[in-house]
Amino acid sequence: MKAPSFDYVKPGSLSEVFSLLEKHGDDCRIIAGGQTLLATLNMRLSEPKLLVDINGVRGLSGISLQVNCVRIGAMTRHSEIEESHLIAQHMPLLAITAPHVAHKAIRNKGTLGGSLAFADPAAEWPCCAVALDAVIVMASQRGLRRVKAVEFFRELYTTDMAPDEVIVACEFPLQSQTSRCAFEELARRHGDYAIVGLAAVAQVSDKTLSQLRLVFLGAGNIPVRARAAEAALEGKALSPQSLSAAKVALAGELTPAADLYNSAEMKLHLATVLLDRILKTLTS
Ligand SMILES: Cc1cc2nc3c(=O)[nH]c(=O)nc-3n(C[C@H](O)[C@H](O)[C@H](O)COP(=O)(O)OP(=O)(O)OC[C@H]3O[C@@H](n4cnc5c(N)ncnc54)[C@H](O)[C@@H]3O)c2cc1C
Repeated sequence: MKAPSFDYVKPGSLSEVFSLLEKHGDDCRIIAGGQTLLATLNMRLSEPKLLVDINGVRGLSGISLQVNCVRIGAMTRHSEIEESHLIAQHMPLLAITAPHVAHKAIRNKGTLGGSLAFADPAAEWPCCAVALDAVIVMASQRGLRRVKAVEFFRELYTTDMAPDEVIVACEFPLQSQTSRCAFEELARRHGDYAIVGLAAVAQVSDKTLSQLRLVFLGAGNIPVRARAAEAALEGKALSPQSLSAAKVALAGELTPAADLYNSAEMKLHLATVLLDRILKTLTS
């Protein structure tokens, strides 16, 4: 299928974007990397009359080290995150996760902001943003607004962003030098959206885990933090007993929905497999 006809503008500043959003309301859509939006237009899942291309807006792209965080501009491509030395050094969870985001051609065009705004429950960046306690920075005519990732993702494909807001950046708090992280996912083919995935961040000392954050993708409508499994492991050395207790806790708190190919039981089973793998990686 082909996309319905639409008008197209490429403003050079955020203030022009704000004016266009105010004037056209629900009839217009921001386009960033276009990797998701164009597919939805071609499938006629969305029929905006106007596309507002933010690729010409200066200052929305780039990765920088700030006093307390690594700031990634909304228009930063997935590939830039994947290849950044700064990310590898200061935000290794993003570096190890990036190769799992789609295929290289899509990573070259798709943006961090687009992924956060679209809020696909199987996407990697929303999951990492929650695991790293990141803050989404939005701008509108009313000024800047910062919202923690854990509050930003509200429901399936639904975020805290207002229709007149634009994501301008995401700020990832710096992790301590002793923090460890890991990422695992299971997909039918590499590059496909994952069936289930898991991002983990923790302090690890002599195989003992503390300040553990376990966040699943593909296991609910939004990134799901497995707080009961975290609690079962907090302050304990990883052992067959603590692992088994964490799996029981996980089974009690995760309620994944079946999709076309995987039953809810299958997804839960895969989630426990990932938990097992990731804890062994964290403590190895
Ligand atoms: C075949 C295929 C496989 C894929 N596999 C994966 C995968 O495994 N994992 C994964 O995470 N993603 C995957 N994707 C999606 C890809 O990562 C997209 O790049 C990403 O989801 C959207 O980013 P974008 O810049 O292309 O956004 P666009 O497609 O341009 O926009 C997506 C939505 O976000 C809005 N938007 C974009 N930028 C902003 C902004 N700054 N402020 C406010 N709203 C904004 C748009 O209006 C639109 O509604 C896949 C895509 C394809 C086509």
